[in-house]
Amino acid sequence: MAKVLVRSAQYVEARTAVEEVFECFRLGVEGKRVLVKPNALNEREPETGSNTHPSVLRAVIAVLEARGAQVIVGDNPGQINYGRMREVFAANGLGEVAGDRLRNLGLDLIARRVPSLKFDLFFPRVLFEVDFVVNVPKLKVHPGVGFTGAVKNTFGHLPGAQKATCHVASPNRRAFERVLSDIYRLRRPDLNIMDAILALEGRAQGGPSLRYLGRLLASDSAPALDVVASSMIGFDPQNLHHIVDAALVDGVTPDPRAHEILGDYEPIGDFRLPKGFEPGGTRPDEKPGASLLEAASRKGLVLKEGLCNGCGDCTKQCPLGALGLEGGTPVIDPMRCVSCFACVEACSSRAIDLEPTYPISADN
Ligand code: SF4
Ligand code: SF4
Repeated sequence: MAKVLVRSAQYVEARTAVEEVFECFRLGVEGKRVLVKPNALNEREPETGSNTHPSVLRAVIAVLEARGAQVIVGDNPGQINYGRMREVFAANGLGEVAGDRLRNLGLDLIARRVPSLKFDLFFPRVLFEVDFVVNVPKLKVHPGVGFTGAVKNTFGHLPGAQKATCHVASPNRRAFERVLSDIYRLRRPDLNIMDAILALEGRAQGGPSLRYLGRLLASDSAPALDVVASSMIGFDPQNLHHIVDAALVDGVTPDPRAHEILGDYEPIGDFRLPKGFEPGGTRPDEKPGASLLEAASRKGLVLKEGLCNGCGDCTKQCPLGALGLEGGTPVIDPMRCVSCFACVEACSSRAIDLEPTYPISADN
């Protein structure tokens, strides 16, 4: 059984909420080096809900430093933003909060074997050198694995191109979920503080799916936190396989009723879940032998008519260069696409979806 704190919170009083977290989960941080890892996915402003809100990061830093910690802040944004870390942090507001604590995690790497891939990936050395890692994820839906929370945020331990390697080497969604839990196992965060004040709901990520929940959640077990957070918004955590795998790593159960839940837990009945993850829904890859690529091509990455504004954000996030813009319209090279859904996440207009409207192609 793990302890999970659910607290009603607002960004303006985030520090008070974070103080309570540290009272509940006592880390002896005085004189210790602490890496704080927000979810800095992209360059979007705090109001879009794409990234951990700067107010939460500010509160975590303030509380840690008041307790005598030496704080480092870092993340590896997106799939191909390797080398553009400072631009991403500058644009999304997290850089201003981090100040000179900000570290480019991608510059000094160390090899670690990922069992499910059977080869090494390269991780930031500092992850294994600091005394504590404080994980500060965002509550979001995810078009591929359903839910992005504390466990999925550790995928950001990998610099951009390493993430693309994971997608390419995973023949299907289940294999990718095993990679996620392996990455979690390599450096379990010591404390997880989830920004669920503004969350993202629905099938894709972006402004129209913004949802106010007004909660901060915390636990020293990332999968236990995800189990409670995901069940709070209507998921069956048993369907979130990367969390079930990570729960095995921590020796906790994916049953939310088995955990000690403190504070303001209250089920949120009308949260919109990704397609296939609704209660009783069937994930697209549940058929034996169906790969993620097959699942995507069966459903089809599609451009929804009238929603694309030609901004090109999706093309910037494609790790394989499988998307280009032609005449202001995204064009996909199906032979290069590995169905990582980074483009779906990247589109704030929700113009890319998995429904058969019409295929993304040069014919559009
Ligand atoms: S699909 Fe979305 S991200 Fe891509 S160009 Fe259109 S509006 Fe921009
Ligand atoms: S086109 Fe989209 S789904 Fe395919 S590899 Fe690029 S970002 Fe991933």
